[in-house]
Amino acid sequence: MESCIFCKIAQGEIPAEILYEDEQVVAFRDIHPQAPVHVLVIPRRHIATLNEAPAEEAELVGRLSLAAAEVARRLRIDQSGYRVVMNCNRDGGQTVFHIHLHLLGGRAMTWPPG
Ligand code: AMP
Repeated sequence: MESCIFCKIAQGEIPAEILYEDEQVVAFRDIHPQAPVHVLVIPRRHIATLNEAPAEEAELVGRLSLAAAEVARRLRIDQSGYRVVMNCNRDGGQTVFHIHLHLLGGRAMTWPPG
């Protein structure tokens, strides 16, 4: 999708600190980190929200979680722990409409979330 900022990051058209990438998934640091580790994991394919994720992309959606775990291992927060979140639409707080997991760690998370 031409105007999508995360598509542009996935295509290397705008810069990001990329920590992991493969044929289907890219992970890069969030520009406004909310924790010592704050990484976004996106599919290369544009999917606007989780609501639009087609059943045939179940594997791709699962790969996002596995990539988040891989990044957590690389950043050595896998044993201390971390949180993985996907926001959807207004009440979920989604601001970029290309699905992404937030990988948050490096400090204790609170619950319930705000
Ligand atoms: P969400 O509110 O769940 O849609 O999350 C969008 C996230 O994208 C926010 O945490 C932003 O800080 C982050 N973000 C927006 N633009 C960029 C960018 N160019 N590079 C890295 N992170 C970004």
